[in-house]
Amino acid sequence: CGIVGAVGSELDLVSIFEGLRRLEYRGYDSAGIAVIHDGELLTARASVARESMDVLASWLAERPFRKGEVMLGHTRWPTHGAPTLANTHPHLDCHGDIAVVHNGIIENFRELRAALIERGHRFGSDTDSEVVAHLMEEALGEGLLPARALEHVFVQLRGHMALVVALRFEPRLLLGIRRTSPLLAAVGEGQAFFASDAPAFLSLAEQFYEVPEDVAVVLGNPIAGDQGLSVGDLEPLTVEWSSQ
Ligand code: GLU
Repeated sequence: CGIVGAVGSELDLVSIFEGLRRLEYRGYDSAGIAVIHDGELLTARASVARESMDVLASWLAERPFRKGEVMLGHTRWPTHGAPTLANTHPHLDCHGDIAVVHNGIIENFRELRAALIERGHRFGSDTDSEVVAHLMEEALGEGLLPARALEHVFVQLRGHMALVVALRFEPRLLLGIRRTSPLLAAVGEGQAFFASDAPAFLSLAEQFYEVPEDVAVVLGNPIAGDQGLSVGDLEPLTVEWSSQ
């Protein structure tokens, strides 16, 4: 699938959505976005064969606002769970505070999900991905800072994947982590991005970086004392792109 994430105090939501559209070739069954705006986390999902992007574009066009602090996007290529609306990403924790987009497969999700249900979590989808939102809820609830919490969750996951996580109560940062699946970070003026592939943000970013494996990368303003890497720690990439 294709994932994007963006963080900045004045994100232009439509241009970031256009970035997601350029990843549609990576999965088109269904697509969804999450936006953090004025302390609220809003999501929109569509599962209409070949028209999901247009449904989301209309949703965005109807918002009374054009700007946001964080935005996530996902075009799904289902591996676990039918291509239904409920299975469309982003997936949220029980309180709707943590939003996750996921590319890849979590092989041990059944065990993780069963244990989470036993501890009182309610699931809204049949996907492997949703366990990440609930595990993050627990890790943050135990007092771990965001990047530490994501790494703590990530070591419990088997398989290959890229994850981008947004937190409603931390609208100045965005977290990404990956193993095998692709994930790039990029920096533009007053904004920073994650994406599965560079075309998503070529018009908005000046510099691209490869996210290293198994370490949380924090975009935006990291919290003092939290572990994880910032873009300054990453390997700059030379991106070549043609528009075909
Ligand atoms: N395994 C996840 C799902 O089925 C993500 C698939 C993808 O990469 O689009 O929802």
